[in-house]
Amino acid sequence: MIRYALFDLDDTLYPPAAGLMEALSRRFTQCIAEELGISLEQAEALRREYGKRYGSTTRGLALHHHVDIGGFLAKVHDLPIEEYLQPDPELGCLLDCIDAQRCIFTNAPEAYARRVLDVLGVADRFCRVFAVEFSGYRGKPDPLVYERVVAELGASDPEIVMLDDVRANLLPAAQRGWTTVWVNGRGKPADPQDLDGISYAVGDLWEVARVFREIGLLDEAHHEEWNRCLLRCPLGRRRAG
Ligand SMILES: [Mg+2]
Repeated sequence: MIRYALFDLDDTLYPPAAGLMEALSRRFTQCIAEELGISLEQAEALRREYGKRYGSTTRGLALHHHVDIGGFLAKVHDLPIEEYLQPDPELGCLLDCIDAQRCIFTNAPEAYARRVLDVLGVADRFCRVFAVEFSGYRGKPDPLVYERVVAELGASDPEIVMLDDVRANLLPAAQRGWTTVWVNGRGKPADPQDLDGISYAVGDLWEVARVFREIGLLDEAHHEEWNRCLLRCPLGRRRAG
């Protein structure tokens, strides 16, 4: 029986079209350039290289340039979130329909994650925020991070469902036996051959009702409530499941 629903934050709780992740990505490169005194092109190249070599740019920055990761990430995430996101009462209503303890599981710093939740107006829907500090800046998809989350929750692996827009982040979870939902942001489900052990793929968070129904997190009454939430959303943006 599933008792915990772990939601990624960026591009999962809000759609990629919001543009916040794009802005973060630009700022990340800018901050590398400023920190190391190099050009944007050089910063971009370094970012790709460290990402490939260490699975995390910040690890490369810490190893090779002694960058203080906490301070660096705080600077990267110092963005006017309100310019990208608005309060989303329908999202709150959707989250209320799910019969599980809801947590955030993100590679972003905790202060930023809480600001995003505040702007969306859903901070009170989550009992825990597992941010990048929790894992000592290892972040997803390092398998150790998933281990720590399980221990911290006092849960067993089959009790957890995880939702994330990044497929690679779901693979260690799938290997542990968590139920995994790839919220791929393309507005349509992924090809089955792309799943690679991932339990489900949905186009966006608004299609996830069928998954929650199937895994027992959404009963019939709440499913009807869920559909009512969707009907209150702007036409064409979200569809009833
Ligand atoms: Mg994400």
